Amino acid sequence: MTKNNELSGISVVSGWGVGKAYFVGRAVKNVSTVNITRQEVGNEIMRFGEIREEAKKDYRQLINQGAETTLDSSILNIYEHILDDPAFIGQVVETIATRLYDLESAIRTVSEDFITRFESAGTSYFKERSSDMVEVCEKLVSCIHQDNGRARSFIEPVVLVVLRTFTPTDILSYDKSKIQAVLTTSGGKTSHAAILARSYSIPVVSGVHNITDKIHPGDQVLVDATAGTVFVRPTATLLNHYKRPHDTEEKLERLKTRWRKPVYTKDGVKLDILANISLPDDVDEAIDNGADGIGLVRTEYLLSNRKEMPPEDVQMMYYTDIFEKSKGKPCVIRLMDIGGDKIPQFFEMPQEFNPFMGWRAIRIFLERKDILVTQVSAILKAGKGYNYSIMVPMVTTLQEWTEAKKIISGVARGLNLPMPKCGVLFEVPLSVLEMNTFLKEIDFASIGTNDLIQYLSAADRNNSKVNYLYNPIEPAFLRIIRNTIKTANDNGMPLSICGEMAGNPHHTLLLIGLGLRRFSVIPRNIPIIKELVSKISLVEAMEHISHIDAIDSTKNMANWLTSLNQKLLGDAIEKYPSVDDLL
Ligand code: PEP
Ligand code: MG
Repeated sequence: MTKNNELSGISVVSGWGVGKAYFVGRAVKNVSTVNITRQEVGNEIMRFGEIREEAKKDYRQLINQGAETTLDSSILNIYEHILDDPAFIGQVVETIATRLYDLESAIRTVSEDFITRFESAGTSYFKERSSDMVEVCEKLVSCIHQDNGRARSFIEPVVLVVLRTFTPTDILSYDKSKIQAVLTTSGGKTSHAAILARSYSIPVVSGVHNITDKIHPGDQVLVDATAGTVFVRPTATLLNHYKRPHDTEEKLERLKTRWRKPVYTKDGVKLDILANISLPDDVDEAIDNGADGIGLVRTEYLLSNRKEMPPEDVQMMYYTDIFEKSKGKPCVIRLMDIGGDKIPQFFEMPQEFNPFMGWRAIRIFLERKDILVTQVSAILKAGKGYNYSIMVPMVTTLQEWTEAKKIISGVARGLNLPMPKCGVLFEVPLSVLEMNTFLKEIDFASIGTNDLIQYLSAADRNNSKVNYLYNPIEPAFLRIIRNTIKTANDNGMPLSICGEMAGNPHHTLLLIGLGLRRFSVIPRNIPIIKELVSKISLVEAMEHISHIDAIDSTKNMANWLTSLNQKLLGDAIEKYPSVDDLL
């Protein structure tokens, strides 16, 4: 049971944060309205006209997709009707001109007004109109914020309250430095949104119910994501209790400074600890945390908050920036993993019942070769003189891989540039179990455990209901990982793991014991993982981990690993702040 001003949920990214509640996914009044000067009124009103046209264009595009769209055309016609409604337009214009509200504040205020009136009318017809109004308001606001990849800023720290599926765009649409925590109704630990949040140290609690009953926009909210507890309008005493002690920051800094150098196991074997990044600025953080290179660039995030596919020169700038910042360290560029829960707003995607099993990554590329060629060409041109390689996501069959490689080599030949090293992200069971057949054709391999676990266990990585099956320490899964690592090691194939599993310090000893020598992880966990590696003897780890065959359940595996970590590493993991759970 929770108290009146408390809510509870599932810890997805641990840590804590405090800020004003900012709702995403439902038309509500602004946290605070933003005022403009008299001189800006004309501009805001003109912008309103442009934004309405953009929204109509987007809706028309959906209508033109016909049967493949998720909405039928009569509903889309209603949205268009609202956008052209003189009463709606007139009120927004008046609110801007007389109350000096900026465009978003005016749209939200007027929409809320309409919604209240529709809801109080009581009939089901008007109730439906109220949800149409919610949609149109959110659409207009999202058009305002589609600003060539730039994120929206806040004046004060906020807690994002996501009232629908939590997506990566929810993090990337806003100034990350102001997001103190996220509350969401659903979403698993390795959803792409959670991965992004984790890499930016943004605590997340999911599976929170009755949010709108207890939290109102602008309320101060304290989120203890480690415990999965949310406090609405917390008392000063409670806030003081959570304030970070200074020595935590100092401890983190000391560890960072210590590990800006290569790491060796206790018995002298060098391991590579690389970083997973999404945006060029993340490279600075990676290098600052002692990354030995960049093991995964999730390039699809280049498409966030954009109205169209960025042309080759814009893509080139993005890669040049990443290579420059990498300071000569190796850099693995993963081709865009579009699809699943990462669908750019402008991208025409058919309706799919099973998006993660549908048209995604290389499956899109082999049909939309124009996108592949533009991306590869931008990478190759930007990569001149840099230490980089290309990784292809979601490869299922050798035939797909051969086709993709042929296109990459065609681009290289056309540009008269050397063919870069190319590798496969092994994350689909068929390719993982048949890794042998790929070995002659690839330069390196990486295991994408985030997807691999969901495909092997048929448990959606975004669905907290089936999270109990989605488990990196499930004994059967560990045996598959062990065999895959062995196949690569026996054949001298460089192999990393770049799924979230590799970045969890509770798994470091386990993975070393399974034979892994290259980890690719979120930047902020690099120092602790290096620290742990330096305390582990490879021979000893392999000897201990060889006993996992005798363990028959995840629960027993968790208990066994906890005591092994304790025995060999003492309290090194627990002492490190904000480490996610073992499971
Ligand atoms: C993975 O699936 O493990 C992976 C690294 O890719 P992503 O999380 O981006 O799907
Ligand atoms: Mg993946």
